[in-house]
Formats: sequence, structure tokens, C-alpha cells
Amino acid sequence: MSENKDLEQLGEFGLIDHLKSKFSTVQPTTIQGIGDDCAVIEISDTEAMVVTTDMLVEGVHFNLMYTPLKHLGYKAVVVNLSDVCAMNAKPEQITVSIAFSSKYPLEAIEELYAGIKAACEHYGVDLVGGDTSTSYTGLTISITAIGRAKKNKIVYRSGAKDFDLVVVTGDLGAAYMGLQVLEREKEVFKSNPSIQPELDGYDYVIQRQLKPEARKDVVQFLQELDVTPTSMIDISDGLASEILHICKSSKVGCHIYDEKIPIDGSTSLAAIEFNLDPATCALNGGEDYELLFTVKQADYEKIKGNPHMTVIGHITDERDGCYFIDKNGSAITLKAQGWNHFNA
Ligand code: ADP
Ligand code: MG
Repeated sequence: MSENKDLEQLGEFGLIDHLKSKFSTVQPTTIQGIGDDCAVIEISDTEAMVVTTDMLVEGVHFNLMYTPLKHLGYKAVVVNLSDVCAMNAKPEQITVSIAFSSKYPLEAIEELYAGIKAACEHYGVDLVGGDTSTSYTGLTISITAIGRAKKNKIVYRSGAKDFDLVVVTGDLGAAYMGLQVLEREKEVFKSNPSIQPELDGYDYVIQRQLKPEARKDVVQFLQELDVTPTSMIDISDGLASEILHICKSSKVGCHIYDEKIPIDGSTSLAAIEFNLDPATCALNGGEDYELLFTVKQADYEKIKGNPHMTVIGHITDERDGCYFIDKNGSAITLKAQGWNHFNA
């Protein structure tokens, strides 16, 4: 009981910090251990390999009532490739480990792997191994992704500096609204299975939830623009949580402006229908798998007007703190919702 309470108090990130404090690295090839989107391992004087693992657990990360297995396989790969992109690296290989009930039909596993294959083809990565086990508690998928980059092009969470600009790719909040729509239709279906789901007009937000993409294209654009971000992270847990990771790792503060946050019109419409503030969905929703990065002011001209990138704020001194400036100009302290925030 008391141990559970400790875990609750620590939260996911506190637990990771606690575990990390018990280990130190001894290999000179370990450039970056626990604490970034990927570990970084030296492979030559100029090149490094990046490695990341993400696990999707039935009932926690997905619900098979409304998640097609093919989409699930695709998403399981994407969430890992997104972490590789967040290091400004190019994904090359994945391994896939699955645990599932022995009652599963072969077709179900084939569907899952059809999605995994589609992602491998789309992103040009090779499936090179994995593991298979029985599960008594539902489906679990754990994927490891491996990528490569020039050592001097790797971007960490820790490099943001005072006055840097804060940039986000694509638009935010849609995946969270997609989840709200799917959850609502699930409840309607449970109470009356003869009612057809009402999904018209929600295509974009549902697609963002069920079939996200990793911004490998943005890594390419940045290279073409000759911009190396000073820090970068992918948005898996919501903008607020991710900018706080950058600020903590970089020992800086920030100002993020409500009016600058890119939100698709269909996300705003869905949010308003659900009595939610669209900005709150962007800040706390998560699963957008967009990239959040900082650049030097001198690089502004190179990214200005780029349709994939929006400047949403700037970095400040650590002592100034981390603030969200709302549409009335009021500064609100940024807070991460932490784990299990979907249950709140
Ligand atoms: P992301 O959201 O980018 O996948 P996480 O928040 O899951 O990152 O993890 C943050 C860091 O902690 C990463 O470096 C990850 O490898 C590490 N990490 C997470 N869980 C564990 C664990 N159980 N043991 C060791 N390292 C972990
Ligand atoms: Mg990440």
C-alpha cells in the first residue's frame, strides 16, 4: 500500500529519474543514456547510433473496440520512429516484440503485421528481429527503433538557450479529440449496439488518433534549410509536458503564446462540441507525434513562413520560469499533467 503511494507521488518521470540515479554508465561509447528521446551510442569518430523503445499495452494505450489491428501495428512503429526523428536522426531498423492470447486467430496477428509492414515501407526501415510470447492479460507490443546521425547533428533535449525561438511542427490537439470522439461512440455502442457510429466530419481528428505519422520529413526539411535545432523532443504527452522536459534538461524558462499554437479548424470544432478549450487539448492532450524544437534567433529567416513550422514562443532565463501566455495576455505557470492524465 505505502509503496503504491510512493509510486503515485513519484509519477512516471519521477520514477525514471529515481531508477536512473542508481545507474552510471561505464562504456566510453555511451554518449547519452537515460533521459532523452533516444540513447546515443558512438559508432565512429563522426557517426552515432540512436536507440529507443516504446511499449503499447491493451487497455492502457489502445482499445481494440475501435482500433483496427492494422492501424495499431502502424502506430506502434510510428511512435518509435518519432523518437528517432526527435534526435534529428534517420530511422533504419526496428525489432518488434508481441505478447498475445493463445486464442488469437492467425488473421489478427497478420493484420497487426500488415500495419507494421506498411510503416516499414513508408519510412524505409527494416524489421530485423523481435520476440513472441503468450499473454493472459491482453495484447502488448514493444518496439525498439534504431537510427543513425552524424554526431554533430544529433539534437538533445538539453541544448536550448536563452532567447532561442520555440517551434512546433504541424498542428496540435487533434489526436486527443479523435480519442474523445472514439470513446464517445464506444459508449453509445455499448448502450445500444444497433446504433451506427456518428463519425462523419471527424475524419481528420480520428485519423490523427488512429494513424499518426512520424515527422521524418521535418528532419529532412531542417537539413535542407541548414538549420540544426538547439534542442528537440517529440510531442507524445502534450505540449506542456514536452516543453517542460526541454526547459528542465536545458535549465531554461519559456514563454509559450496561446494565440500562436497551431490548431486545425476541425480540432477546434470538436473541442468546442465537447466543451473543451482547444488550447487545453494542445497543451495536455498528447499523441500528436509532432516535433517541438528550439532554434537560434539567427535561424528565424530560414524557417519563417514554412508551412510545416510555427514559432509559438521563446526561451527565457531559468529564473523567469515556464509560462503560458493566454489570449488576454495573462501569464499562467505551465504544468505537466503527468501520467494517466487521460483518467483524470
Ligand atoms: P519518450 O516519451 O520520448 O518515449 P519516456 O518519457 O518514455 O520518453 O522516457 C524518458 C527516458 O527514460 C528515455 O531516455 C527512456 O529510455 C528512459 N526510460 C523510460 N522507462 C525506463 C525504464 N523502465 N528503465 C530505464 N530507462 C527508462
Ligand atoms: Mg519522445
